[in-house]
Amino acid sequence: MAKRDYYEVLGLQKGASQEEIKKAYRSLAKKYHPDVNKEPGAEEKFKEINEAYDTLSDEQKKARYDQFGFDDPTQGFGGGGSGFGGFGGASGFGGFDDIINQFFGGGARRSGGNSPRQGNDIEKQMSISFEDAVYGCKKKIRLTVDEECIHCGGTGADSKNDIRTCTKCNGRGRVIMRQQTIFGYTNVETNCPDCGGKGKIITKKCSECGGKGRVRKTKDVEVSIPAGMQNGMTLRMEGYGEAGLNGGPNGDLYITFNVGEHPNFKRDGLDIILAIPLSYTQAALGDTIEVPTIDGNVSLKIPAGTQPGTKLRMRGRGTKNPKGGVQRGDQIVICNVVVPTNLTQEEKELITKLGQCENKEKKSPWEKFKNLFK
Ligand SMILES: [Zn+2]
Ligand SMILES: [Zn+2]
Repeated sequence: MAKRDYYEVLGLQKGASQEEIKKAYRSLAKKYHPDVNKEPGAEEKFKEINEAYDTLSDEQKKARYDQFGFDDPTQGFGGGGSGFGGFGGASGFGGFDDIINQFFGGGARRSGGNSPRQGNDIEKQMSISFEDAVYGCKKKIRLTVDEECIHCGGTGADSKNDIRTCTKCNGRGRVIMRQQTIFGYTNVETNCPDCGGKGKIITKKCSECGGKGRVRKTKDVEVSIPAGMQNGMTLRMEGYGEAGLNGGPNGDLYITFNVGEHPNFKRDGLDIILAIPLSYTQAALGDTIEVPTIDGNVSLKIPAGTQPGTKLRMRGRGTKNPKGGVQRGDQIVICNVVVPTNLTQEEKELITKLGQCENKEKKSPWEKFKNLFK
């Protein structure tokens, strides 16, 4: 069987970049690895992919292949390549993850590197009173966070003169290592072993942070709680999390609020709910009363003939929107009609008279209701 072009094997165009080659290899190796793919021919395909990658991932081999194809006068291609003689079926392969890790160093390959990384977020809970939630307030919260060391500015060195560029990697932080793998020799880029991927070597560590570049600090942070904060809502404070690494931004602080209850007022989103007691006569005749709101007492007209459980809306007397905007919620007033107990003699007489009136002049609601059953 004629050997297929290496670019074709990886599904690439001639002249593909190393990035594209790696990407194509990674996805094909995953697809055809014998641990994963049990279809006939998968193993052959896997070997073919690895052979193509072995050549194309090596700049020198790639250049020769680009020039001569399989007829490189300096190299004996053919027969599967020199490094591939030792395969003995699927058992000869490493585990699937090993392969991927071997070629790409796994997902954490840049963990020791010098690329900027955002600091971790911090999550906190805060309990606030009903009033604080409604009106908004400022509160302090105590945090223990990693902060950039002031003495060394996060470098970890005692002074500027205590930092020198790593000679092994020339400050790149990454080195190409030629490694023997089960596929033969291959070039693997890894973190520089001398500087741990930082590209710099510190000759004297910072006396404040011991070279970590960060110090653990406990501090009080002022939190501005917007008016209208609701139970379970989370406030994000950008940049108040752990310090970033290598010049990366800080993480964020997330505070979730537990809003306390009020003995009378309830919350429903932006609306405030208040139940009020009305006497029988107020409900029947109507009245204008002073109702407590979060703005203080506000007069409310009770229409004549108000039924128990009637909801009256006081527009704009609810809370502000903690997310912003000028529109406020409403206050919903639930009218409870209180039936009097412990009547005085005079009251008793008047109500009795009222009852007789009702019977004479119009059918009482009870009379109408009673008739439903007939
Ligand atoms: Zn320091
Ligand atoms: Zn280095």
